[in-house]
Amino acid sequence: MRLKNVPGSREAIAASQYAVLYPEQQRGNWKELFGSDHPIRIEIGMGKGKFLTELAAAHPENHYVGIEKYSSVLVRAVQKQEELRLPNLRLIRMDAEALEEVFAPGEVDRIYLNFSDPWPKDRHAKRRLTSPAFLARYQRILAPGGTVEFKTDNQGLFSFSLEAVEECGWELLASTRDLHHSQLGQGNILTEYEERFSQQGNPICKLIARPPAEA
Ligand code: SAM
Repeated sequence: MRLKNVPGSREAIAASQYAVLYPEQQRGNWKELFGSDHPIRIEIGMGKGKFLTELAAAHPENHYVGIEKYSSVLVRAVQKQEELRLPNLRLIRMDAEALEEVFAPGEVDRIYLNFSDPWPKDRHAKRRLTSPAFLARYQRILAPGGTVEFKTDNQGLFSFSLEAVEECGWELLASTRDLHHSQLGQGNILTEYEERFSQQGNPICKLIARPPAEA
């Protein structure tokens, strides 16, 4: 994503009641923050928030936390949420590498990854959000039976992700390289990048996987 500096973005995020400024303090207490026992679902690299705001509006029965590394991007999601004021959605500016400082073991029910940065150079493979190192982090915060759902138009990244799922002993529950013409695409909510790339004619890939059950 090309990043433009958005003046005032840090201040706008700090002023929003929907942005969690010290997310480590919520570790193990996210259900208390939302005030009910519903499942916690997170999107990592949420960008400007189209997908997660639509998902949260459609599913008031779940709680959603959006994670984005850059204030200049997150501020757009914060602005959307300030208009929508969805009670089941909170937003965090953070790097996903620190996930385990923010969520306790088993606290998260589902993780969405949409159009994650491909990091095409081999030496950057560990930064890919579907690398074995990230899958290990996800495994530690997911509840039993919890899943990761990943969409991309990048065929190379999708192949890499399928290999990572296998290498880590995760169960591949579903996968397609043409989501918009597949059963798996029913009820699909488009992300900003998905809208752009599918208009350009790129097929969209999706996988759903879960870590092995504890022995
Ligand atoms: N998910 C959105 C979509 O599909 O339209 C945005 C996709 S954009 C290519 C990837 C986003 O992930 C960027 O906004 C980027 O800042 C964010 N991102 C990349 N690495 C991240 C990390 N380690 N932690 C949190 N966010 C990250």
